[in-house]
Amino acid sequence: MINITLPDGAVRQYEKGTTVLDIAKSISEGLARKVLAAEVNGQVWDTTRAINEDASLKLLTWNDQEGKNTFWHSSAHLMAEAVETIFPNVKFWVGPPVDNGFYYDMDLGDKKMNEDDLIALEKKMNELAKKNSEYQRKEMSKADAEKYFTEKGDEYKLDLLSNLKDGEITFYTQGNFTDLCRGPHIPNTSFIKAIKLTSIAGAYWKGDEKNKMLTRVYGVTYPSQKELDEYLLMLEEAKKRDHRKLGKELSIYTMDDDVGQGLILWMPNGTVIIEELEKLAKETEQAAGYKRVVTPHIAKKTCTSPVGICLIMQTACIHQWKWTERNII
Ligand SMILES: [Zn+2]
Repeated sequence: MINITLPDGAVRQYEKGTTVLDIAKSISEGLARKVLAAEVNGQVWDTTRAINEDASLKLLTWNDQEGKNTFWHSSAHLMAEAVETIFPNVKFWVGPPVDNGFYYDMDLGDKKMNEDDLIALEKKMNELAKKNSEYQRKEMSKADAEKYFTEKGDEYKLDLLSNLKDGEITFYTQGNFTDLCRGPHIPNTSFIKAIKLTSIAGAYWKGDEKNKMLTRVYGVTYPSQKELDEYLLMLEEAKKRDHRKLGKELSIYTMDDDVGQGLILWMPNGTVIIEELEKLAKETEQAAGYKRVVTPHIAKKTCTSPVGICLIMQTACIHQWKWTERNII
C-alpha cells in the first residue's frame, strides 16, 4: 500500500500502482470527469500514470493554470494530428501552451497554409476530438528514439533529442499522431469540446532570423462551446475598445512620422482628458495632504532618485511620494 497526501493534509491509502484517475474516482465520480492532470510530489503528471510510492497529490482541473496548460498543450497535439491529414509531409518543432491557448511551429516544406486551411483544420480537429483517443505515454531509449526520427527524416525532433538523456525520453500517441514529448496531457481527446484556430504567423526556428522560417498556427480550445463563445465575445469587445481604434475615432490623439514613430500628439479631445485627470490628481493629492514638486523628466543613468520615471499622469504623484518618503526617513 502507498500513502497519498491530499492538499488538505488528509492521508489516504491505495494499492501501489494506482493511477491519479483511480484516486480521483475514489473521491468522487464527478471530480474524476473534470481532472485534467495532477501534481504528484510537485511535478505535473498525466492522470493515467501509476503512482508507485508515497506521494503528495493535487488534482488539477480547468480552474488551475497547470490544468489549463495541460489542456491547451494537448490541444496542440490534436491540431498536429489534424495538420498531418492535410499536409502529410509536415515536420513539427514545438507546441507549447500560451496565455490564452496554444501554438505549434511546423515546417510545411514548399506548402503554404491559409485561412481556409484553418477552417478545414478546425473541422478535422472536432472530428478527431470526438474519437475519444487516449493520450498514451511510452518511455523510449535515446537510441530507439534517434532511429525512429532518423528513419522519418525529422531533423527538428532529432535536434530536440540531442538535448535529452536516456531515461527522460517519452513519446505520446493519440489517434494516428505520435510525438516526442515530456507531457503531461489530458486523459483523452473528448475533453476538447470547442476549438478555434485563431491565426497563422511566421516564426524563425529557435527564434533566430538566420534559421528557416517555420509556420506557427495559434489556437484556443475550451471544455465547452459556451466558454469558447464567451472568450471570443470578450476578444471582440476588447477590439472595440482598442486605444488605436478609439484614439482615431474619437479624435483623441494622432501620430506623425515627421515628429517620430510612436510619439503621441494629443488633439483637443485628448488634451481635455489629460487636464481633467490632472485636476483630479491634484485634488486627491491635496486632500491627502501631499505637496506637489516638479522634477526633470530625464536624469543621469546613474541617478538613483526616481526622477527618471516619466509617466505623463503619474509623474508628480510618483516623484512626490518618493520625495516625501525620502525626506521622512
Ligand atoms: Zn505533448
